[in-house]
Amino acid sequence: MEMNELFYKNPYLTEFDAEVLSCDKGKKDYEVILSDTAFYPEGGGQPADHGMLGDIPVVDVKRDKEDRIIHHLTAPLAEGITVHGIIDWERRFDHMQNHTGEHIVSGLIHQKYGYENVGFHLSDNTVLVDFDGFLTPEQLAEVEMEANELIWRNVPVQETFPTDEELEHMEFRSKKELSGKVRIIEVPGGDICACCGTHVMRTGEIGLIKIIASQKNGEGVRAEMMCGKRALSDYIRKNEINARIYRMFAAKPYEAADAVVRLKESDEEKGRALTRLARKYFNEKAEHVMPGTSFILEFEEGISANAAREYASALVAEKGVGTAAVLMKQAENRYSYMVISQSRNLRDVSKEINTRLNGRGGGKPDMIQGSLEAEEETIREVFTELFA
Ligand SMILES: [Zn+2]
Repeated sequence: MEMNELFYKNPYLTEFDAEVLSCDKGKKDYEVILSDTAFYPEGGGQPADHGMLGDIPVVDVKRDKEDRIIHHLTAPLAEGITVHGIIDWERRFDHMQNHTGEHIVSGLIHQKYGYENVGFHLSDNTVLVDFDGFLTPEQLAEVEMEANELIWRNVPVQETFPTDEELEHMEFRSKKELSGKVRIIEVPGGDICACCGTHVMRTGEIGLIKIIASQKNGEGVRAEMMCGKRALSDYIRKNEINARIYRMFAAKPYEAADAVVRLKESDEEKGRALTRLARKYFNEKAEHVMPGTSFILEFEEGISANAAREYASALVAEKGVGTAAVLMKQAENRYSYMVISQSRNLRDVSKEINTRLNGRGGGKPDMIQGSLEAEEETIREVFTELFA
């Protein structure tokens, strides 16, 4: 934490001037070291800042092994000049909101349950936090409410540099990277944690904390959360999706899911009714089939593969038909097929069907199924030649 690391002195600094100490051609881009910088380097789970140095984009910022801050640029800068730096503030503030929000959630969970944050991933579109103990969605919802109450109280986020002796008597969560002077970030009532990231000055700036989803992760839990503008954007988008659904059903906003459940139930009921009708239809057809017919070929439309299989099986088993084939139209010159036979080994002919009729599929010696792309007339010819 050097004096020239301006993001620690003032995390709200968006523009600065600095001298270019060095510029080297790296593997992918140009690596620049400055006398001072407001660019936060990737670390402590917080991604690097982006922005501009002069008129050149800064695409990444990292610390090297000697703890120097390396700015990755798409073009070189002359050594010795003074350059004006501009931080991509929208990106940085989003990181500050989400990072500080994560402190509060992790701190509250630590206080209430004693669980540790064992993994933190902050990227452009997700914040994932892993805890080493399991929490139900209801428990997480409780934490989420308390975290938001802490936002509404707008408490200051404090930064201190305790002495080694003070640290010994202090209860704090710690992240892995602890070297040199320890920086403690405290959200009164929420969290005390050693951290090297950038934070908002008061909790009110986080705006909103929302836990989007959670799942069991080993013995623990992984929570996906969003803070600030991200959380609002997510709410706007999901609200639009919900509105499309409830308007479609002329339902009320909170009743969209009930409307979809009713639709699904009625759809399943229609499916069962169609199956009953198809069965009846095939039973009647089967009555007109002469027992012992060697080959039957049917083209059908709008029936399920299950109904076709039942029909073909019944013809073979009950009417003694040698081979029964049902073709179900899917689109112009596209069919799915089902063949059941007791007179031919279907494995032998399945390849020929696929080759001659642009098909895909296969199965067992007495039953094959798949799809075909050919005209009805051609299919009739090939099937008749193979089975009649
Ligand atoms: Zn932090």
